[in-house]
Amino acid sequence: MLKRRATERARKGYPILVLEDFVKEPKLPEGTLVQCIDEHKKFVAIAYLAKQNKGDGWILTTNQTEMINQNFFEKLFKEAMDQRSIFKLNEQTTAYRVFNGEGDGLGGLTIDFYDNYYVFSWYSKGIYTHRELILKAFKAVVSDSKGLYEKNRFETTTKPKTDLIFGESAPEPLVILENGINYATYLDDGLMTGIFLDQRDVRQSLLEKYAMGKTVLNTFSYTGAFSVAAALGGAIKTTSVDLAKRSLPKTVEQFEINSLDVNDHVIRVMDVFDYFKYAIRHKLTFDVVVVDPPSFARSKKRTFSAAKDYANLLEEVIQLTKPKGIIVASTNAANVTTDKFKGFIEEAFKKQNKSYTIEETYTLPADFKINPEFTQGDYLKVFIIRKK
Ligand code: SAH
Repeated sequence: MLKRRATERARKGYPILVLEDFVKEPKLPEGTLVQCIDEHKKFVAIAYLAKQNKGDGWILTTNQTEMINQNFFEKLFKEAMDQRSIFKLNEQTTAYRVFNGEGDGLGGLTIDFYDNYYVFSWYSKGIYTHRELILKAFKAVVSDSKGLYEKNRFETTTKPKTDLIFGESAPEPLVILENGINYATYLDDGLMTGIFLDQRDVRQSLLEKYAMGKTVLNTFSYTGAFSVAAALGGAIKTTSVDLAKRSLPKTVEQFEINSLDVNDHVIRVMDVFDYFKYAIRHKLTFDVVVVDPPSFARSKKRTFSAAKDYANLLEEVIQLTKPKGIIVASTNAANVTTDKFKGFIEEAFKKQNKSYTIEETYTLPADFKINPEFTQGDYLKVFIIRKK
């Protein structure tokens, strides 16, 4: 039995339940399907129970006559695929999200398409208990799959891992296209693949509008995807900075598969904060600085948390940005709302005594579909800022 507020929200289409929503906390195994009723014992929804960072229960339907069976999941997949038909037709982009959790009606599961390989990410034990049925439904709907991988993102006792569960393994690297640019991906390599698909529109904007003839600093550069986009957009020089050792060969590879001369570019394996000191000491400045840190990171020297440290980070970035230069400031931290993020930008510029204008903002691209009743699901916030 759900409390009144939860009942109202669920009836409007809100997809998540938390323990406080229940009149009496259900003590049932992960994955259990429950029928939710209101305080007058009227039907509200069918949900499955699962502990995830965002909630404890996930609404599947508010239609009392609906059965949760293979057909139910097939319907969800068909709908999701139909909504991505524009991506399917676009030969210049061969990697995108085909199923985005609660945005597509099933919280706890995302599916990404990488050039006819599909990557499932399971976010809870609860959703995983329905795995067999879900995979059967998926295979009934999708016929173009060369191979299916799954990434298990919930196991707490063992390390999260990737498995090939159907078909053939993908080549390594698997080169995908995004707006005509090559990116090397590795589907079977930890939880990351080499590219963050949710930044597609931002990379394209950098390429089209901000890179031509410019010097670009890409901080927290990972495999250098932003650097490659900038270079192809006409940047005269890019500098990629990431402390992970593997970022160097991975970034070289991204340049090479796009026939760019990596000798025209700088790749540094170092802590971004040390790089800032170095750059300030050497009076280096850049026309464009990309800042896309993880929500949280711990290195030998320090911990970085977007919620606490982003404004300080921006202060450093402002000092390295040329007048009239561009800062691409991005965060995927769920606990940093758009308003909070704007506040950090305001604070950083104020402290540096500089003014700015916001040229563009980006959130998740269309393939990362959002449930309109749960807009917090849109975790990506990107501001393209011009320093005055
Ligand atoms: N902007 C990238 C994704 C960044 S992922 C892209 O669009 O592809 C986060 C990256 O930050 C990781 O590669 C990690 O190695 C790096 N990182 C975390 N803390 C860091 C620090 N203090 N200095 C430099 N890199 C850091």
